[in-house]
Amino acid sequence: MAEAAAKKLPNIVINERLCKGCSICVDFCPTNVLEIRGSVVAVKDLAACTRCQLCDLRCPDFAIQVFD
Ligand code: SF4
Ligand code: SF4
Repeated sequence: MAEAAAKKLPNIVINERLCKGCSICVDFCPTNVLEIRGSVVAVKDLAACTRCQLCDLRCPDFAIQVFD
C-alpha cells in the first residue's frame, strides 16, 4: 500500500484567473516543476514535485494549490 501511494503523482491545481505570472512559485520550487507559459504558471515536470507546498505557501494570489 505504501509503495503504491508513493508512486501516485500529486495534483497541482492552477487557477489561471488568479495567477498573474509573477514567477514567485517558479523561483521557490526546489525541483524545477513549474514554468511561466504566456502570462500564467504551468506545470512542466509533475513527476519532480515533492509536495513541499512552497509554491502554494508563497503565492500571494492563492492561485496554486498542491494536493496529494
Ligand atoms: S506565485 Fe502565484 S501568481 Fe505568481 S506565478 Fe505562481 S501561481 Fe501565479
Ligand atoms: S509543491 Fe514544492 S516541489 Fe511541488 S511544485 Fe510546489 S514548490 Fe515545487
